[in-house]
Order: sequence, then structure tokens, then C-alpha cells
Amino acid sequence: VPNKFSMKFSAQSCNEAFARMVVASFAASLDPTIEELEEMKTAVSEAVTNCIIHAYHSDATKEIQMNGIAEDGKLTIEIIDEGAGIEDTELARTPLFTTKPDEERSGMGFTIMENFMDHFELVSTVGGGTKLTMMK
Ligand code: ATP
Ligand code: MG
Repeated sequence: VPNKFSMKFSAQSCNEAFARMVVASFAASLDPTIEELEEMKTAVSEAVTNCIIHAYHSDATKEIQMNGIAEDGKLTIEIIDEGAGIEDTELARTPLFTTKPDEERSGMGFTIMENFMDHFELVSTVGGGTKLTMMK
């Protein structure tokens, strides 16, 4: 049977490390390599940062939902916000595309997630929020 977790946490940057640790601990049962673990943690960091900055514009009262499923040696992570949403998800996924070029963003978050994870899916509604599903 699949192993699952589900959690909600405040959209605060201090919780980036917390979310990374949760995923690393949860993934441990899948016996990943150190490299795989690092890649999963980096992908989660990028996703959580995006929720904080882009979805919620640093409104720390907002919340991020994160779900995990471990099944058949694979980890699936869902990261869901109810924030701004993305108008054009294809464009958002393009390397170097960013809507905040003035704030030290390089537009590489989604590219990193896609490269570090085996499967990556982005569903978003403007004004409704964004759901990111990643598998490795
Ligand atoms: P970097 O991740 O390199 O710091 P970035 O965050 O701008 O820069 P990506 O993570 O690739 O780059 O995201 C690309 C763009 O997609 C963002 O600039 C933003 O406009 C949009 N975006 C990403 N995640 C979300 C989200 N959860 N909600 C709303 N918009 C988002
Ligand atoms: Mg980003």
C-alpha cells in the first residue's frame, strides 16, 4: 500500500527548510541516494519559494499545502497554493523567464525542478492558485 503524508504550513521563508526536511525524512524509506535526496530537497525548496514570493507576495498569513506519496520506490510530492496563479504555464516554465527580474530572481526554479525530478506537472488558475506535482 502507498505511504502518505499531508500537511499545511505558513507561507514563511523559515518553513522552506522545514518542508525540505519533511520530504527528506519521508523519502528515506525509499532508500534514495544522497544525490537523489539533494535533488528532491532542492526541487521542494524552489516550489515553496515560488508559493511564498509569487503566489502570496510574501503575505505570511497564507498557507501552503504539501502532500507526499511513496509507492513502488517512487516519491510523488504535491505543492499547492491558493494564490495569484499563473497566466501562461508554458511561458513560466521557460528557462530564464521571470516576472520579478528586479528582485534577484533568475527564472530558473521550474527548470531546476524539471531537471531534478523525473516527472513534473503544473496546473494553475489565475486568481485561484497553483498545483505542482513532481515525481522521482
Ligand atoms: P528563480 O526561481 O530562479 O528565483 P523565478 O521564481 O522567477 O526565479 P521560476 O521559479 O522558474 O522562476 O518561476 C517562473 C515564473 O512563474 C515566476 O517568475 C512567476 O511569475 C511564476 N510562478 C512560479 N510559481 C508560481 C506560483 N506558485 N504562483 C504564481 N506564480 C508563480
Ligand atoms: Mg522560483
